[in-house]
Amino acid sequence: MTAAVSISAPPAFPLAQRMSRMKASAIREILKVAERPDVLSFAGGLPAPELFPVEAIAQAHAEVFAEEGRAALQYSATEGYGPLREWICAHLAKSGLHAATDQVLITNGSQQGIDLVAKVLLDPGDVVVVENPSYLAALQTFSGYEASFAVVGSDNDGMRVDDLERLLLVVGRRPKLIYLVPNFQNPKGTTLSLERRRELVRFAQKHRILILEDNPYGELRFRGEHLPSLASLDTEDVVINLGTFSKTLAPGLRIGWAVGPRELIRTLTVAKQAADLHTATVSQRATARLLSRFDYDANLEKLRGVYGERCQVMLAALEKHMPAGTRWTHPEGGMFLWVELPRGMSADTLFPLALEKRVAFVPGSPFFAHEPRSEFMRLNYSNRPPELIEEGMRRLGAVIASQQT
Ligand code: PMP
Repeated sequence: MTAAVSISAPPAFPLAQRMSRMKASAIREILKVAERPDVLSFAGGLPAPELFPVEAIAQAHAEVFAEEGRAALQYSATEGYGPLREWICAHLAKSGLHAATDQVLITNGSQQGIDLVAKVLLDPGDVVVVENPSYLAALQTFSGYEASFAVVGSDNDGMRVDDLERLLLVVGRRPKLIYLVPNFQNPKGTTLSLERRRELVRFAQKHRILILEDNPYGELRFRGEHLPSLASLDTEDVVINLGTFSKTLAPGLRIGWAVGPRELIRTLTVAKQAADLHTATVSQRATARLLSRFDYDANLEKLRGVYGERCQVMLAALEKHMPAGTRWTHPEGGMFLWVELPRGMSADTLFPLALEKRVAFVPGSPFFAHEPRSEFMRLNYSNRPPELIEEGMRRLGAVIASQQT
């Protein structure tokens, strides 16, 4: 299996140069086969659908149509719906991130935040510093803007921030952006330590490099202490913080936000206007209405309880079923963990064999910006109940053991 799938252009319609660098997501291709009903898949990055507050969301939509239908169906401001931006400000302030309403831009999920930041910042050839491995769809976005990558390794405490000064010398030019997922990273599930957070912000301030802090999972902590966001540690306007309701309410709402320095948010707003005018008015108003009376914190507690249990079940099942030489991360929150296979084994080779045994994962290679490494796999634990997690790890352990010489 190749790490990524190229887009082939029909000769009659030559595509823009940049599309040759932008790969179709390998994960989407994998999911097509992994989501067969007979396969126990741990490949997707899906929240647990049984935890979506469907009735409360439906009720909020019904009220929006009944009471403010015309406004909800009208065009609206690019910045986003005022009461929703205000709720986000008040909510972020609770965890120490203080921002004014005009420092918040509502986006179509945090994915659009990544895209807009890349669009306003990156010229072809500009350098983006990324973790190795990194969130695949961010790599895809940056590639689409013809960025080049400077990769910095990571360990169980997240990005190797101590390596950044050396990296600057090697790269020889100032990066435009440092992109990272500090909490329960996708794909590894690891979290950036407090010390490294401070060091990273100091580094970015010293060199005047913008940090893009992508934080879709921060509120899904089920173990350990909350750590301050990079944005809350920053005193010199070098951080853009991205958030989303995709993992805490439902991804189908497509509501995320970017919080950052006022001037940059204004520039992102201009870019968003050119992209899609605004995020769906109905969705924004219904979400604002929902949040005005919904117990968001209780909902988070529920999610943390369920995901914490599922993670624990997966860790115990890995312990029980994985052959010696297999290692994995121990997330304190989020939805993923990262498995390192016994020496010499390739997750790409393993994938079709696992499918034969009706279990699926995402091979780790597409998450690497430079040379892909094939000895890793990403497992999602949020989307399956405990008994299926146990059964899935049993099947996976047997496949891995069968490949050991
Ligand atoms: N960033 C990361 C690290 C993610 O894992 C995801 C979702 N898989 C996103 C951004 C995009 O999420 P959304 O656009 O739904 O907010």
